[in-house]
Amino acid sequence: MIKPLIAANWKMNKTVRESVEFSRKLKEDFAEYRERDIVVAPAFTALYPVSEILKTTPINVAAQNIHQAEKGAFTGEISAAMIADVGCSNVIVGHSERRTLFSETNNTINRKLIAAIEAGLAPIFCIGETLNERNDGRTFEVIKNQIEEGLNIIETDDIGGIVVAYEPVWAIGTGRTASAEQAEEAHLYIRSILREIVGAAAEKMRIIYGGSVNEKNIAGLMRQPNINGALVGGASLDYISFKKIVRH
Ligand code: PEP
Repeated sequence: MIKPLIAANWKMNKTVRESVEFSRKLKEDFAEYRERDIVVAPAFTALYPVSEILKTTPINVAAQNIHQAEKGAFTGEISAAMIADVGCSNVIVGHSERRTLFSETNNTINRKLIAAIEAGLAPIFCIGETLNERNDGRTFEVIKNQIEEGLNIIETDDIGGIVVAYEPVWAIGTGRTASAEQAEEAHLYIRSILREIVGAAAEKMRIIYGGSVNEKNIAGLMRQPNINGALVGGASLDYISFKKIVRH
């Protein structure tokens, strides 16, 4: 049985004060909670204070992005080691907003995954097709390509520690969730591709779903055998709603 993971992606939302307030509530309610793993991904500015609050709990903190280089003249960028240094244990890599709004390619994402692993961070590696790609019947082809190019030259043991987040782009922030069956079909396919790359280790890898997850649809999604958790955007901003999703 794979332990489910529920991750909150706050994107460019919440001040330090708001992030701290949310994290204190999380600490109060989930300090002894072990049933599911919880990860929160605040903005860069709030990573350190949030990590400090949650460091004595089982809740992990993720950055939403990193730069692929180790260090150097990359004004405005933040390295994987810097993220680890402020207490994070995870990082989201390859989110569709990074791919579309910031032109990240599978190759850039591959380099970011490598940088994350080298710094000891566990990546949450996002993949997923656009609506046009789905309508053209190219969902599996796109996903396969994103996985193969994203995981290029990464050691099998390291791949085992990566969480794959299937996030169909048409379901992100749109209120339009993939049905539990559509998501399960994609997750099953993702696991089969992972099996080709890492063999039996694929059975233990977490494949989580993201795309308009909320307190109403989480249970149906999580009942699917290959859905091992959720990456939650909009609905993770409200504490009560996120708490219900974790405890559904
Ligand atoms: C996300 O951005 O990772 C996401 C899944 O967003 P939302 O839940 O708002 O669709």
